[in-house]
This record gives sequence, structure tokens and C-alpha cells, in this order.
Amino acid sequence: MEVTRTFSIIKPDATRRNLTGAVTRMLEEAGLRVVASKRIHMSQDQAEGFYAVHRERPFFNDLVSFMISGPVVVQVLEGEDAVKRNRDIMGATNPDNAEPGTIRKELAESIEANSVHGSDSDENAATEIAYFFKEEEIVG
Ligand code: ADP
Ligand code: MG
Repeated sequence: MEVTRTFSIIKPDATRRNLTGAVTRMLEEAGLRVVASKRIHMSQDQAEGFYAVHRERPFFNDLVSFMISGPVVVQVLEGEDAVKRNRDIMGATNPDNAEPGTIRKELAESIEANSVHGSDSDENAATEIAYFFKEEEIVG
């Protein structure tokens, strides 16, 4: 299988509870390698731009407020079939529906404060990675 990249965010509910290491460990144990990582506090413009596809959804404003409520850790992850591998270890959007052993089942607080973001396609992964990282910041 091909080694690919995906984009991850450790969300403010997880950084607030000091779970950056716990999340990263679960990603690594799932066969993903962190090839870029930085802790940032997103601006409102940055968060609105990142979630632009969700602009018409009823939860958009709350989601943006949540994402700028504290620091996040943005990461580039590399591994075989990285997008799917990451989505599998993340678990379902709503932690109540997530499988045991997934990040969201074990760590998330709610459907909104669900600890992690992960790209949903190779194409979106490339766009999302470029939104936060320069190529020279990614070291595989
Ligand atoms: P995922 O993060 O699993 O790809 P989506 O792309 O559908 O999920 O949604 C983006 C984010 O918006 C979710 O991770 C979650 O933080 C938030 N969200 C999604 N659905 C809801 C909802 N019904 N109510 C509140 N927040 C939601
Ligand atoms: Mg999504």
C-alpha cells in the first residue's frame, strides 16, 4: 500500500486537558508518523477559512468559536493509506457512536468537542496541509 499524508488537528478540548501526548501516542500506535507539528492559537479568520465547507451548517458558528477557544496542535501524519488509517483511529464524529479504542470514544467530550480533526480525502489532505504548513516544515 502507498505511503501518503494526512492532516490532523488536536482540538482545544484535548489541549486544555493536557492530552496532546495521549492523542499523539494513539496516532503513532495506529501506524502514523508525525512529520510536522506545531501548537498554534487559530484566529477567527483562519478557523472560518479552514471550515469554509461547513459554512452553511447550523453548527458552523459554534464550531469556529470552539476551535479558537484555546490552542490546537496542527500535524501532518504520514503512513500507509494515511487518510483512512487516521479516520479509523479517530472514530465517528459523535463519540457516542465511536468504536471502543478510538480517540473519540476514549477521549472526546461531545460531538463538537471531539478532540481531533482528520482530513477525509487525499485531495482535502493536500489542501489542509498547505493551509498550515510550508513544504520545508514537513520532514519525513
Ligand atoms: P468529522 O470531524 O468527523 O470529519 P464533520 O466534518 O462532519 O466531522 O464536522 C466537522 C466538525 O464539526 C466535527 O468534528 C465536530 O467538531 C463539528 N460537528 C459536526 N457535526 C456537529 C453537530 N451536529 N453539532 C455540533 N458540532 C458538530
Ligand atoms: Mg470532516
